[in-house]
Amino acid sequence: MGIVDEDVAKVREATDIVALISQYTQLKRTGQRWMGLCPFHAEKTPSFSVNAADGLYYCFGCQVRGDAITFVREKEQLDFVGAVEHLAGRAGITLRYDDHDEGAGRKRRARLFELTEQAAQWYHERLRTSPDAAAARAYLRSRGFDAEEVEHYRLGWAPDAWDQLARHLRVGRADLEATGLGFQNRAGRLQDFFRGRILFPIFDDRGRVLGFGGRKLPDAEGPKYQNSRDNELYNKSRVLYGLNWAKADVVQQGEVVICEGYTDVIGFARAGIPRAVATCGTSLTEEHVVQLKRYTRRLVLAYDADEAGQAAADRVYAWEQAHDVEVAVVPLPPGTDPDDLARSSPQTLHELVAAARPFLAFRVDRVLDAADLRTPESRARAADAALEVVAEHPNDLVRDQYVMQVADACRIEADQLRSRLAAIRRRPRRAPAKEERRTRRRDRAGGDGAPAYEGPPPGEEQAWAEEAPAAPPRPPVRDGVETEALRLVVHRSEAALELLDECLFDHPVVREAYLAVTSADGVAEAIEASPPDVAELLARLAVEQGEADPLDVLGRLATELGRRVLQELEAEARGSEDPLAYARAIGWLKLTLDQIRGPRAEVETLTQLIAWLAERRRTTEQG
Ligand code: ZN
Repeated sequence: MGIVDEDVAKVREATDIVALISQYTQLKRTGQRWMGLCPFHAEKTPSFSVNAADGLYYCFGCQVRGDAITFVREKEQLDFVGAVEHLAGRAGITLRYDDHDEGAGRKRRARLFELTEQAAQWYHERLRTSPDAAAARAYLRSRGFDAEEVEHYRLGWAPDAWDQLARHLRVGRADLEATGLGFQNRAGRLQDFFRGRILFPIFDDRGRVLGFGGRKLPDAEGPKYQNSRDNELYNKSRVLYGLNWAKADVVQQGEVVICEGYTDVIGFARAGIPRAVATCGTSLTEEHVVQLKRYTRRLVLAYDADEAGQAAADRVYAWEQAHDVEVAVVPLPPGTDPDDLARSSPQTLHELVAAARPFLAFRVDRVLDAADLRTPESRARAADAALEVVAEHPNDLVRDQYVMQVADACRIEADQLRSRLAAIRRRPRRAPAKEERRTRRRDRAGGDGAPAYEGPPPGEEQAWAEEAPAAPPRPPVRDGVETEALRLVVHRSEAALELLDECLFDHPVVREAYLAVTSADGVAEAIEASPPDVAELLARLAVEQGEADPLDVLGRLATELGRRVLQELEAEARGSEDPLAYARAIGWLKLTLDQIRGPRAEVETLTQLIAWLAERRRTTEQG
């Protein structure tokens, strides 16, 4: 399967699952386990539980479960090998591969990342020490960068020369082009891509260098910003500058601020808002949204007001529906950018972020704010303009609430506006290309007009389908003394491990779970080897805490089973030709059941009873 088994085990062992999951949701310790809001479904009260000792998680709300590797697979959308590599990177473990073909592609990526890392180091060193970077250093100082920030953001300087980086890296054309660091020019010589620019390395969320954003010095020629072109590592529709630093605060605050430039991200951080990321030379894409929703469902746009207002509304609403996110807009005063505000008035920036409004509200406000509401004619015009904006929203309840707002602001009857809104919605839309896209979506979604949800990657669904049991489903497991006893085994209670026997469990799922966990090396392994109903039960018990005294639980289990066996014996005796043959067993069982019910039940009596019951069950099951 790619990575050597031994190394996979090593990675599992080295991973602190609580620290890992804490990057996505806040966990609080309660007794043996950790609880938090589920990072896989939206909820207000925590039902996500982590068992640190066994490295397992389980959600009582949506029933997701797994270990560190499953967690990374689902949250980072990686395959198994990718997830193990991700965790190995965190733990500083070097992996060995047993399959050369599969390893080759990954090794290549690793080598390319090695190159971009070397380039980042070299550029950074140039900025710090090289005489030809003096103007760049002076410029950064003038923009308020101190040495600490230059270090933190790993800023660099690309010298204004042909091929200094290429010569330093000593790699061929293919690797240089695959990383976007250089190319072969018409004269057939290798040439650096970035020249004479201050560089902002752009990292992936794990801190690996994907590419660079280059800013020219004020009096230099050329465009102000130049970014890496799309290549094997860098894809501008996915890349988010600053995500590696922002993600912890994003999770903690429950929102991400999305801005337009590197310096805005840094400005937000300076102002004490370290949860900002920037799209790099492109507007927000659906791929960005998919990446960000792994950390939060609230996306706050901090674009220049004009651009935010013009953001393609239908796309924003489609994302809100398809990805269950909410998009809000920071009401930045026109002509200001976050970087300037962070410098001149960080407090204002805080207030503006706190005042972020839902996307539609922001757009309606802009129309009404710009309108002249003094005469009846101008109020009617303003209402029409606002309704055009409201009409774009796909949800009729949401639309209607805004209709009432517009009605208030323009002093027009809401019912009148409702019929005008209906007319606008009936009108064919101006952009036929978009309409066509919408129709196609509707077809796929089965005609209800909602954008189709893309669903999990096909591989994931396949995995579930394969796991599904072929036999008819077994009855659901109800919590009771059997599951309590099994929980003791899952948590390795010595008394339970010693005294219990598979024959004491009546429910087939509970019994199978008992067998799985007692024959496997740890509950995680047992879960992996079990069918879904058994795995689900084990995963849940692994994160549940048993407060009960083991001997009490075992006593109750033995009593319940003992009473059933007693009834069986009495029935058998009644139907037998020689009832007296049962008298001894019945008498002993009655007496023992009385004894273990008492407050001073002896462990020895309990042990004897359990052994006897197990033996009896084994015989009747075989017979
Ligand atoms: Zn959940």
